[in-house]
Amino acid sequence: MTKIKMTTPLVEMDGDEMTRVLWKMIKDELLEPFVDLKTEYYDLGLVHRNETDDQVTIESAEATKKYGVAVKCATITPNAARMPEYNLKEMWKSPNGTIRAILDGTVFRAPIIVKGIEPYVKTWKKPITIARHAYGDVYKATEMKIPSAGKAELVYTAEDGTETRELIHDFKGTGILQGMHNLNQSIESFARSCFNYALDTKQDLWFATKDTISKKYDHTFKDIFQDIYDAEYAEKFEKAGITYFYTLIDDAVARVIRSEGGYIWACKNYDGDVMSDMVATAFGSLSMMTSVLVSPQGYYEYEAAHGTVQRHYYKYLKGEKTSTNPIATIFAWSGALRKRGEMDQLPDLMNFADKLEEACIKTIENGDMTGDLALISTAEEKRVCTSEEFIQAIRTTLEGLLA
Ligand code: NAP
Ligand code: MG
Repeated sequence: MTKIKMTTPLVEMDGDEMTRVLWKMIKDELLEPFVDLKTEYYDLGLVHRNETDDQVTIESAEATKKYGVAVKCATITPNAARMPEYNLKEMWKSPNGTIRAILDGTVFRAPIIVKGIEPYVKTWKKPITIARHAYGDVYKATEMKIPSAGKAELVYTAEDGTETRELIHDFKGTGILQGMHNLNQSIESFARSCFNYALDTKQDLWFATKDTISKKYDHTFKDIFQDIYDAEYAEKFEKAGITYFYTLIDDAVARVIRSEGGYIWACKNYDGDVMSDMVATAFGSLSMMTSVLVSPQGYYEYEAAHGTVQRHYYKYLKGEKTSTNPIATIFAWSGALRKRGEMDQLPDLMNFADKLEEACIKTIENGDMTGDLALISTAEEKRVCTSEEFIQAIRTTLEGLLA
């Protein structure tokens, strides 16, 4: 069998722990036998990030701007415990945060749906994709405890020195205070990433805030989305047969629960934090959540939503068998390969990506699965596979589909 050709490399960002082990197995068993894989490799494993003073993370993000598509393995975000474990020079920042800041992107998360892993919400038939704005609001807030009576004000001092003041509250006793902000430019990038991704995936876009209560802050989000939509996207949406829909956040929550799914739900930072956990849990399993960072310029970075599955890795190091689910990581590869195929007009590569995903789903629906899925699957026949056995089972299914 001749291998499928690629013309432009993918940016490959390797990672840590159990997902690094799976990464190699996926390449060896599911990609390289079928595709003449072209990647520009960046090792974002913590050892190499430490050796390069984290420069490798920055270089990998810059490469993503150059080539347009990246695929990333889960990586450790160091905490105090990792300092001695990896003998770190510094507590390096989250690679995802660094990459997101350089690409100015929005993260879209969507569940992979298979028969037997039923959502808790009975009406949900199609995935709900959550887009979370990743800048500002309560995540960059300044807070104060008010110890006793006194007046609190918002003060803005323009560059020429003129002051604008608004009374927040005339405290009669103790209380609390919070000041938060956002930037029009960041909201504009968020809006464009959302509109682009909706067109890309041919799904409706929903956006919701609390603009009835927050008449300036949240209303600005609403207005920016609407202005950009009217000026740049309304026609394109109409042609694609999709809609942009704005509503109040409380109404959105009610509609989401009653819906069939199959749309993108754009959320402000805090709403996205909370709602993505709600949607992920309601769809069944963290190991079945995909994630893609989309920049307003149209650069894409695909990954799994879960972490490095540390507990399984320690078992693996002791020589014990693991049953770690590789599905979201495989979908990161298939997403990146499909996007590469679209950009380079390589229908064979796009077809391979479709078949690889189909093979994953079929394998699970045939009853072969990892332990995390066996716990929640309603399938009658279930075989719990080790990590290796499961990837082998997917390979067998894939060979059948490609034959
Ligand atoms: P995690 O790796 O997502 O794992 C949490 C637990 O969820 C696991 O212990 C496992 O439960 C289950 N799980 C997650 N993915 C699974 C899979 N593919 N197959 C089977 N079970 C799975 O989160 P964590 O343990 O909190 O974090 C570990 C490391 O990952 C941390 O260093 C963190 O910084 C990093 N992290 C990275 C990213 C990223 O790169 N995008 C995201 C999140 C966390 P059981 O142990 O009960 O089987
Ligand atoms: Mg959260």
